Amino acid sequence: MSDFTEKLLLPEIPNLHNIDVYEQNSGYQALRKVLEMTPDAVIDVVKKSNLKGRGGACFPTGLKWSFMPKQSSKPKYLCANGDEGEPGTFKDRQIFEFNPHLFIEGSLISAYAMGVQVIYVYIRGEYVKWINLLQKAIDDAYAKKYIGKKILGTNFSTEMYIFPGAGAYICGEESSLMNSIEGDRGYPRVKPPFPAQNGLWGCPTTINNIETLSNVPLIINRGAEWYSKIGEPKHPGTLLFGISGHVNKPGVYELPTGTLLTDIIYKYAGGVRDNKKIKAVIPGGSSTKWIRGEEIDGVRMDSEALKAYDTSIGTGGIIVMDDDTDVLKVLARLIHFYHHESCGQCTPCREGCGWMEKIIKRFIAGEGKLEDIDLLLNVANNIEGNTVCALGDAAAWPVQSVIKKFREEFEKRVRKIPIEKKYVPPPHLIVEKV
Ligand code: SF4
Repeated sequence: MSDFTEKLLLPEIPNLHNIDVYEQNSGYQALRKVLEMTPDAVIDVVKKSNLKGRGGACFPTGLKWSFMPKQSSKPKYLCANGDEGEPGTFKDRQIFEFNPHLFIEGSLISAYAMGVQVIYVYIRGEYVKWINLLQKAIDDAYAKKYIGKKILGTNFSTEMYIFPGAGAYICGEESSLMNSIEGDRGYPRVKPPFPAQNGLWGCPTTINNIETLSNVPLIINRGAEWYSKIGEPKHPGTLLFGISGHVNKPGVYELPTGTLLTDIIYKYAGGVRDNKKIKAVIPGGSSTKWIRGEEIDGVRMDSEALKAYDTSIGTGGIIVMDDDTDVLKVLARLIHFYHHESCGQCTPCREGCGWMEKIIKRFIAGEGKLEDIDLLLNVANNIEGNTVCALGDAAAWPVQSVIKKFREEFEKRVRKIPIEKKYVPPPHLIVEKV
C-alpha cells in the first residue's frame, strides 16, 4: 500500500489562489505542454493514468472524454460539476478557495482534448463566497490569455462561465444539471441518449467533477505512469476526504486512495469525541451504504476495497457516528432530505421516499410493528433500480444497509426499549424462581 504523503491538489503553498504564485509553481505549464500535443495524445495520457471520476461513479475519465465525437457540426461543451449537494460532501469548495487555477487549467486541458468551445462551471448557489473566489480566478486567467480567443497564440479558443444553481440537490445529477443550465426545470433525462451524443442544447457534452479535472494538470506535468502508481492501482491518485460527524477535527484531508479508514479517523481527524466507540460510518457521502463500527478495522478507502463491504467510495465524504447516536433518527433525517429533494418525475422515488420517511418516523414514535421492518425494506427494494436517475438508489441504499446492519434498533423500538439502555422487564413481569 502507498506511503505517498505529498499534497497534490491542496499543497501547502501560501497564496496559491493568486495567479502569479500559481505560475511561479509550474502553473499553466501543463496547458502550454498540451497545446503542442494532439488532442488524441492528451486523451491517451489521461487514459493511461487510470484517473477515475471523483463525483461518485468512479468512471474512467480518459474513456469518458473519448466518447465525444471528433468531428461535430454542433458546438461541444464541458460542464464542470461543482454542485456538491451531497450531505457530508464539502471538498470541491477547498479547490475553489485554495487552488482554483489548478481546476481552471485542468478544465482547459480537457476542453482542448475534446475540442470544446464553452466550459460551464455549475456551482451550487449557496456557495456565494466560492463563486466569487472562482470568478476572480477566471477573470485573472482571461487577463493572461489562458482563456478566450486564440489561447496563448494558438488556434485553440474556449470560453468559461460560472452558472450558479438554485439550491436543488437533483441538479448535481448530470442530465438535470444540463436542463438547469438550459433554463428548464431540473428534471433528470432518460438515458440513452448520453450527453456525449445529445447533451446541452442537443450538442455533444461531457460532465466532469471539479476534483477530477483538477488532477489533469498533475498527470500532464508528471506523467501517467507516475500518477497511476499513487495509492490503489485500480483507483489511483489522492482523494480529498471530507470527514464530519463525531470526530475531534472534522475537515478535508488529502490522502492517497487505499488509506485506512481508521487512519483517517484517528490519525488525521483526531479520533472520536470523548473517546467514545464508533457505532457507524458512512464512507462516501449520504448515498453510500453504512459500515458498522465493529467492521471498520482494515477498511481501505478506495473504490475496489469498499466493494467487499457492500458500499462505495462515493465522494469521499466520511460521516462518523459515535455510540450515542440514534441511527433511526439519522436515517429519518437523511430520508427526509431525499424525499424533499426528489424531483417527483418517477413514481417509485416520489412516493417511495415519502413512505420510507413515514415508516421510519413511525418507529421513532414507538408505533412501528415488527412487520414494518420488512415493509420498509420492500419499499426500498422497489425503488432501487426502478427510477430515471440515481437519486432513487441513493435513498434506498441507506435504508437497506441500516436494516441489514442495525435491525435490532428497529426491533427495540417496537418493544419501546430505550436504545441505549438494557431491557429490564417491569416488576409485574418478573417471575421469581422458587
Ligand atoms: Fe426525479 Fe427521483 Fe426519479 Fe430521479 S429518481 S428522476 S429524483 S423522481
